[in-house]
Amino acid sequence: MRKPLERRLEGELEQFIRDGVYKRPNFLDSPQGPRVRMEGRGEVIILSSNNYLGLSDQPEVIAAGKAALDRWGAGTASVRFICGTFTVHRSLEAACARLVGTPAALSFGSCWNANEAVPGTLLGEDDIVISDQLNHASIIDGVRLAKAITKCQTAVYKHADLADLERKLAAAHDRRVRLVITDGVFSMEGAIAPLPDLLDLCRKHQAVLMVDDSHATGVLGAGGRGTAEHFGLVGEVDIITSTLGKALGGAAGGFVAASAATCDYLTQRARPQLFSNALPPTVAASSLASIEYLEAHPERVTRLGEQSRYFRERLRELGFSPLPGETPIIPVILGETSAAIRMSDLLLGEGVFVTGFGYPVVPQGQARVRCQISAAHTREDLDQALAAFSKVGRQLGLI
Ligand SMILES: *Cc1c(COP(=O)(O)O)cnc(C)c1O
Repeated sequence: MRKPLERRLEGELEQFIRDGVYKRPNFLDSPQGPRVRMEGRGEVIILSSNNYLGLSDQPEVIAAGKAALDRWGAGTASVRFICGTFTVHRSLEAACARLVGTPAALSFGSCWNANEAVPGTLLGEDDIVISDQLNHASIIDGVRLAKAITKCQTAVYKHADLADLERKLAAAHDRRVRLVITDGVFSMEGAIAPLPDLLDLCRKHQAVLMVDDSHATGVLGAGGRGTAEHFGLVGEVDIITSTLGKALGGAAGGFVAASAATCDYLTQRARPQLFSNALPPTVAASSLASIEYLEAHPERVTRLGEQSRYFRERLRELGFSPLPGETPIIPVILGETSAAIRMSDLLLGEGVFVTGFGYPVVPQGQARVRCQISAAHTREDLDQALAAFSKVGRQLGLI
């Protein structure tokens, strides 16, 4: 006899399928790149990966991972504070701090872990965390966890709404610490957080600012140093979190970059540090090689910007209305979820892989296909993708 839990789960899974929200993975059989081999599909152009700089199959990055496997073996077999911190972790953290412009950095198994660690470890019951409404799920969960663990207060401000944030900061003047958290680049819109104004407000209200730069590291600023560099504000943000799983090689891992005391305190007290293994040395080494490659090749970032501008402008010329912006995230809003899924399916039929997003990932009525450009795309890749957009757009009566 099936147990009640099994029965409930099976029922819900069937409902997911009926609702059209059941996710089936696409199996890739090649490295992540501008074109990939997708099982059952052959070669497709990818406009959906976070491989913004094309570093996931960069020869130097692969070689560094292989060499690390030989030198340090498969893994740490310990949490960091016992005997699981290797010299390559120290080198990686120095490079992360140098890249984003903070005194120190601390790596985590993922940026999810990093975001989960920060508020709950640094805050207490006299404090408050104030979070942008559209922040990443890992920040939302990190805030919930902080509230549950520390009994700190929490508040959410309307997306990028400085007046609303100021009201929430003013209402929290009696709190010991006010921590404001925002994404640097919001992944569903490609919008950049209004960092100069956020910094001014945080200074005025003596608040600490934390920016999650997962979609900005390697992407924004002439050197790919992130949102702060984009605005000429390197060194001004109190706490930056970011991922090693996107532009920086795309393997896995994340980091917190901040003051030496903040990173040391997290080393002492953050539970994902204390009770979970560090990054495998292979991943630490390939991530380090990615940062070194980026530092030596800022022209990759320039190219990413040029390619993104090209794709956005050509889409507009074809008659689409992509959201305006300056990042390689280029969403085309289609309205109903079914329209986004249909467009995505038809594009895949033309050999172009672009994900459609619907409610509840994005607001009702704002379903979209979200294109993400990589510096590794050639003009031919982009032109072929644009031809597919043109064909499918006409087929669907969108243009
Ligand atoms: C992708 C992403 C994360 C999670 O990064 P992982 O290292 O894969 O856990 C966190 N925050 C933002 C804003 C992201 O886009």
